[in-house]
Amino acid sequence: MAFLVVVLGPVLLGAFFVGATLSAVDRSRATERLGLAAAGVRTSVDALCQQLRAAADAVALVADPVARPRAADQVVGRGLATAVVIADAAGRTTYATAGGPPGPWQDCAGVPTGRVGALAVQVRLRDPAGADLGAVAAAQPVDPAFVARLAAVTGVDVTLLDGPGQITHTTEDPGVRAAVLAAAGQAVGDGVAGTGDGRYVRRVGPSPGQPLPLVLSVPARRPPVLFGALAAAVALAALLAVLAAWRLARVTTRPLVELAGAVDRVAHGDLTARVPVRSRDEIGRLAAAFNRMMRETGSYVAALTSSRDQLRNHLVVLGDTLASTHDLQRILRVILDSAIAGTGARAGAVLLLDGHGVLVGQCVEGLAGRWPTDDPADPATLRVPVGTGVVGAVAATGEPVRGRWTASDPPTGEPTCETYVAVPFAAPDPRGPERPGHPPVDGDPTAPPSAALGVLALYDRLGGHEFDDDDLVTLRTFAGHAAVAVENVRVHEEAQRLSLTDPLTGLWNYRYLRESIRREVERANRFGRMLSVLALDLDRFKHVNDTWGHAAGDAVLVEFARRVRGVIREVDLAFRQGGEEFVVLLPETDARGATIVAERLGAVVRDQPVPVDGHGDEPLRVPVTVSIGIAVYPDHAAGGQQVLDAADDALYAAKAAGRDGYRMAPTAVGDPARTQEIPVVAATVSPPDGLPRAGAADPTGAAQGGASSGPHPPRQSRGR
Ligand code: GH3
Ligand code: MG
Ligand code: MG
Repeated sequence: MAFLVVVLGPVLLGAFFVGATLSAVDRSRATERLGLAAAGVRTSVDALCQQLRAAADAVALVADPVARPRAADQVVGRGLATAVVIADAAGRTTYATAGGPPGPWQDCAGVPTGRVGALAVQVRLRDPAGADLGAVAAAQPVDPAFVARLAAVTGVDVTLLDGPGQITHTTEDPGVRAAVLAAAGQAVGDGVAGTGDGRYVRRVGPSPGQPLPLVLSVPARRPPVLFGALAAAVALAALLAVLAAWRLARVTTRPLVELAGAVDRVAHGDLTARVPVRSRDEIGRLAAAFNRMMRETGSYVAALTSSRDQLRNHLVVLGDTLASTHDLQRILRVILDSAIAGTGARAGAVLLLDGHGVLVGQCVEGLAGRWPTDDPADPATLRVPVGTGVVGAVAATGEPVRGRWTASDPPTGEPTCETYVAVPFAAPDPRGPERPGHPPVDGDPTAPPSAALGVLALYDRLGGHEFDDDDLVTLRTFAGHAAVAVENVRVHEEAQRLSLTDPLTGLWNYRYLRESIRREVERANRFGRMLSVLALDLDRFKHVNDTWGHAAGDAVLVEFARRVRGVIREVDLAFRQGGEEFVVLLPETDARGATIVAERLGAVVRDQPVPVDGHGDEPLRVPVTVSIGIAVYPDHAAGGQQVLDAADDALYAAKAAGRDGYRMAPTAVGDPARTQEIPVVAATVSPPDGLPRAGAADPTGAAQGGASSGPHPPRQSRGR
């Protein structure tokens, strides 16, 4: 609309100006023409009047009244007048030439009051004395031919009016006569008036010397279609302007509409929205910039999505691994790989603190050739003492660090990389966030760090930038996972150990005995070695309970187990089978060695009564003895259970033999039911190794040395 106003305003003004100017020029030229024509009319009429006066004078100059008619005829004959009339002093016509014009005749010096038939000039006849003798009048008709002649002389249309203002003769077309007459009524003096259909009108006379009331008119000279042409030009300009405005609006607003639509689509989440680039102007550049922006955004979103998917996959793997395995190496490997993928590092390592203040690599990635080692494939060769370098400092302070090594500050004892980030991980506090007065460790950076289990370190971020705080947060998460994994494995191992140990004595339990006997028999079998089994049963233990109480009995059991552990080697295994029955496995030990151990065991129990807290100040001293049955694989049995049974049988024999001694199972070759009885020598001297031997006096006072003496204990039952 603004464009239309700007374009059409000047066009309209111009058209108006042109129209007005042409009209003014036309009017002034018409006025000029009419002025010339009026002068021409006056001159013609004046000339006619003078001609008539001359004619009348010529007749009047004839002194002889008789000759005057002849003179009058000559004047008419010569065409000086159309008619000549001679009158006497009384005014009677004495002679009139033939064919005179119709009346009324209008004297050239007068002013007509009605219709004019002819113009006439009268000359008085006087005698030399000056007496009036009559008059001579010469006339010329004012007829259509006269008017036409005037029109021809002046070049304009001429209309003769009568006195009241009606048309007498005219050269105007009948169609315009009324308009000309009306316009003549409006024209004042020498003024020019216009008719509605394009004519200019002026009045001439009557005036002295020109007695005829005439109206002159000329047609307008301007092109008849001037205003039409102007209107058409304006209309055309308007049409062109509208078209141009429409085109301009289309060119300008269409890209904006498209851009607005695309932005709307983007607002609704469609990042594939693009706009066509149609030009190189600002709008085209805007569209191109929009497309570029959306391309960048799209690729950014794609990268984010893929990294999110990657992270999600890693989390799934991590979750699966954490849930399904107690394989610490595998868990740490997955955690390391996930942390590397999550932060965009090139390399990394998980180190765990060993018992000697040294961080030992558990798994490493991308560090081949980055630290001095003989075997890059073995992560355990990455060893950093606590307090040394970045990793060691993290373990020592419990504070995570990130940064960049420089040439002036190279890594010490650690992998040689450029950028690093390392976070410690500590065992989760078992009391957790519920600890009264202690906020969770995660939420309180001022809380003292728990003792570090290890360190998760990443090196050389992709792109060369340093690791940032976001990476640190990510890494802390993974370090938390690592801590939980290590702790879980530790707890799992502890639970496993507890499930296999006896809570009272700390020895292995019956469940582990079964597993161990199977394993040891298999091993002995494979390597062709021997395995000795000792079945132990405290003598008359019921009596201990009955006499000193159950608590004292328990204390005796604990002390007994301690002494057993002190006697056997590290590779030997001691089990509490149930109640006051125990088993000792001696791998790679033959009957002789087993006998030595049995003797030592008997002595170590027998020689020192077990001190037990009593009711008074003095501790009680409870005398205890043990009976031992010995069986050797493969000498005495062909399998694990059999060798246990054989040892049991031998124990039975030892009990039967009076207790506080040991018996060897009979060889399988002989009678399996018979137990080979080795006589126990009471109070034997200590052998050269200085260790006591079985065979001390029976504290219960039972018969010694005889296989037949003493009550036989009830047959041992296994397990439970
Ligand atoms: P012997 O073996 O010499 O024939 O006599 P004994 O009295 O030891 O015989 P028995 O096997 O019949 O008795 C075992 C006793 O051990 C029964 C129970 O009072 C005691 N006992 C078993 N388990 C425990 C335990 O865990 N703590 C205590 N205090 N006593 C136990
Ligand atoms: Mg028993
Ligand atoms: Mg017993």
